[in-house]
Amino acid sequence: MEILVLQPHGYCPGVKRALELASKALKEDSRPLTMLGGLVHNETVLKDLVEEGLRLSEDNVVDTILSAKKGDRFLFSAHGHPLAYEELCDLKEATYYDGTCPFVQENLEAGLNYEGAILYLGIEGHDEATAFLANVPHSVFYDVKSGKWNAIKLKGMNQQVGIICQTTLGNDEIAKALEEIKQYFPDATLLKGNCPPSKARQEVIAKLKDVDALIIMGSQSSANSKQLVRIGESIGIESHLCLDVNEVAKLDLKGKKKIALGSGASVPEATLQDALTYLRSL
Ligand code: SF4
Repeated sequence: MEILVLQPHGYCPGVKRALELASKALKEDSRPLTMLGGLVHNETVLKDLVEEGLRLSEDNVVDTILSAKKGDRFLFSAHGHPLAYEELCDLKEATYYDGTCPFVQENLEAGLNYEGAILYLGIEGHDEATAFLANVPHSVFYDVKSGKWNAIKLKGMNQQVGIICQTTLGNDEIAKALEEIKQYFPDATLLKGNCPPSKARQEVIAKLKDVDALIIMGSQSSANSKQLVRIGESIGIESHLCLDVNEVAKLDLKGKKKIALGSGASVPEATLQDALTYLRSL
C-alpha cells in the first residue's frame, strides 16, 4: 500500500503557541492553572496537559471566574474569548494567560476597527464565533452550515458591510456565502477570509487525485479537522476522521492501494506518526 503524507501536518502556529504558553505557565508557577474552554480541540492533547497539572473546569466560564480566589490562574483558549472575561479576572484579582491565536486576534481587531457593519461568517456555537460576536457589537452572524443570517437586521444598520470569516471555514463555504450576500449587499467587502494555515491544508486536499481513501487524524470536536474530511468527501474521496491509531485500525482498508494521510491543526505529530507506522505495516 502506498501512503501519501500530506503537508503541512502537526500543530499549526496558533495551536503551537497556545500549548507552549500552557507549558510555560505550568512550569513557572506552582499555583493551580485552570483552562477556560478547550485550549485546543483535541482530547489527546488535553489529556497530556491535565497530566502536566492543568485543571479543567466543570462549571461555565463566568461561574468559574466568579468563584476564583485572589491569585488563581486561568488560561484562555486559542479560539478567542469574550473580553468581558478578562475584566472579571481583574475584578477577582486572578491572573490570566491569553492563548488567543494571532490570526483570531487579527480578525477581532479588523472587526473592532471597521467603521461599518460586520457580517461574521462562522459555525453556530463554535467558541471562535461566539467570542467574536460577543466582542464586536456592530456584527451580525451568518451560519455557514444552515445558511441562516439576519439580512433584515444588517439592512437596518444602513452601513457599509465588511465580512469577516471564522478562521477554519472552507474556501467553497466562503464563496457560496459571498455569492448569496452579494445579491443583497453588492458593495460588501471581504475583510478577512480563513487563516493561511487552514487554507494551506485544505488546498492540498482539494487537489488530491488517484487516492483510494483519505485519513485525517483529528478530533470530532475540531472544526478544522472535520473541514478537511468534508473537502475530501466533496471531491469524491472516501474520507475518514480518526482520533488515534486505534481508530485507524478499525477502518476497512482492504484492497486500497493508495492512501492519503493528513492531520488537523491541533494534532500532535506523534499521532500522525503512529498512524503512519501502522499503515506501513499493513
Ligand atoms: S487554525 Fe489558524 S486560527 Fe486556528 S489556531 Fe491554527 S493558525 Fe490559528
